[in-house]
Amino acid sequence: MKAKILIIEDNEENLYMETFLLEKHGYEVVGVMDGREGLEAAGRIKPALIVLDIQLPSMDGYEIARRLKGQPDTRDIPIVAVTSYAMPKDRAEIIASGCEGYMEKPIDPDTFVSELERYLPTSPPPKDDKS
Ligand code: MN
Repeated sequence: MKAKILIIEDNEENLYMETFLLEKHGYEVVGVMDGREGLEAAGRIKPALIVLDIQLPSMDGYEIARRLKGQPDTRDIPIVAVTSYAMPKDRAEIIASGCEGYMEKPIDPDTFVSELERYLPTSPPPKDDKS
């Protein structure tokens, strides 16, 4: 079974497209359209990766990333911000808030999944049993 991915995105079309592409590649997707809901869902479902919009109702993506990275149970989940803000200072803020990476909108359907997969944790190497 493939990994579970949480998408926090308030634009219905983007959420639909991102979900469609990931499901097509076999991922299990949970999508939420609100910041607080996203934070709650992350703690509850422990996704392998989070796709995070920056402009969101009730709490923006920067704040969500900071909170996720500040909690022991969610801090190891990679976060990839998806944003139409791509000025250098926005990129710096995305990284400073704790996101591992970012992608620019509009998303490219041909590369979206493979780009995200760069951030997915790989399975741990087989145990060395010489110890
Ligand atoms: Mn948005």
